[in-house]
Amino acid sequence: MKQRIVLLGPPASGKGTQAEFIVSSFGIPHVSTGALLRAECANGTSLGKEANRWTHQGLLVPDELAIRMITAWIAEHGTRFLFDGFPRTEAQAEHLYTALASLSAPLDLVIVLELGEEEIRRRISSRLSCLACGATFSGTLNSLKAGDACLRCGEKLVRRTDDQPAAVEKRLESYHKLTFPVIGYYERNASNLIYRVDAGRESDAVFSDICKLIQS
Ligand code: AMP
Repeated sequence: MKQRIVLLGPPASGKGTQAEFIVSSFGIPHVSTGALLRAECANGTSLGKEANRWTHQGLLVPDELAIRMITAWIAEHGTRFLFDGFPRTEAQAEHLYTALASLSAPLDLVIVLELGEEEIRRRISSRLSCLACGATFSGTLNSLKAGDACLRCGEKLVRRTDDQPAAVEKRLESYHKLTFPVIGYYERNASNLIYRVDAGRESDAVFSDICKLIQS
C-alpha cells in the first residue's frame, strides 16, 4: 500500500473531500497546508498574520513559509503522509524530494485531480466552508447560504475570502503559472509515480480510482 502520497489539483477539484475519504479508509495522516494556514490565521498567530497578506488575495504564500510548515509537520508526524496543497511550486517539489531523500523515505504516489475551468468556477461560486471542522458544501446542492449551520459540526458556514471572484481569478492564475509546472516536474522526474484522475465525476467514482492507485 502507498504511504507517501501527494494530491495535486486546481481549487475545488475535491482534494479536501478525497483526502477525507483516504484518511478514513487507509488511516494515512493528512495535512493540508491551506487548512493549516487558515487555522493559524483564525488563531491570530504571527504566522497566520504573515500568511494572510497573501492568502486573502488568492496568492501563494512564499515558498520559505510553506516549506517551514511542512518541515515542522514531518518532524512531528513522520514519513507516512497525504499532502494536500503541497508542493505548489517546483521549488517546493525540489525541497520535498531532498528532504525525503535524506530520510530514505521517497514519495510513492502523486495523484493529479483534473477539472476544467468552467466546472471550477461553478463549484467555487456556490461553495460554503466551515472554518471549524474544514467541511465544505455546495450551497446550491444543499440549499445552504452563508451563516447557516455546518451540516457536520453545527458551526457557522462562511464563504472563504479567497473564494470571492477576484481572488479566484488570482488562484487560477497561480495554479497555471506555478502549480501546473509541478505536474511537469513529476512527469520528468518520477513518471512512474504520477497518475491523473478525472475529478469532474461524483466523488465516489473519483475515490474508487484513487483506492486502486493506493492499493496497487
Ligand atoms: P487551499 O486550501 O489548498 O486552496 O489553500 C488556500 C491558500 O493557502 C492558497 O490559495 C495559498 O494562498 C495558501 N497555500 C496553501 N498551500 C500552499 C503552498 N504549498 N504554498 C504556498 N501557498 C499555499
